[in-house]
Amino acid sequence: MARRAIYPGSFDPMTNGHLSLIQRGLKVFDRLIVAIANNPAKKPLFSVDERRALIAEAVGNDPRVEVDSFDGLLVDYAKHQGVHTVLRGLRAVSDFEYEFQIANMNRNLDPEFESVFMMTGEDYFYVASSLVREVASFGGDVSRLVPPNVFRALQARFRRTP
Ligand code: ADP
Repeated sequence: MARRAIYPGSFDPMTNGHLSLIQRGLKVFDRLIVAIANNPAKKPLFSVDERRALIAEAVGNDPRVEVDSFDGLLVDYAKHQGVHTVLRGLRAVSDFEYEFQIANMNRNLDPEFESVFMMTGEDYFYVASSLVREVASFGGDVSRLVPPNVFRALQARFRRTP
């Protein structure tokens, strides 16, 4: 049976850290569902549809990766997909506390639920979407931190009208 996992997140926007995690995840899982959490309260820079297109393009034609989005609780989405394993990334120790809380809450909501944590390559462990958005908004060069299509989308979003 194919081992499947959901890789959920905001992906606003997708970074090389996310991509690295997907590649690592594929060493452990046969299939990954990259699931964009639709949380309008976070006031995202890119719409769910834009994020979806950016992820699909960055991942390329890999039949092992599916891109989807969900509203509401992750455990409900996971049940709906028939997948009980979630992949999450850990960057620094600072991620641990939050992830630990979420993982325990999810297991509380669904005892079948398992969370698997992986680390990115050291090149990207400091990369966070929030930082990328902030630096890009001030015209800083984030070209090494995000896939080329995301870089272009950020440039277009923050292009100053003369
Ligand atoms: P969320 O809002 O759910 O934290 P993100 O898009 O910021 O969504 O992150 C999704 C997942 O990817 C999280 O598990 C996060 O820890 C992980 N992640 C993000 N950036 C990196 C990175 N550079 N290295 C490793 N994991 C990362």
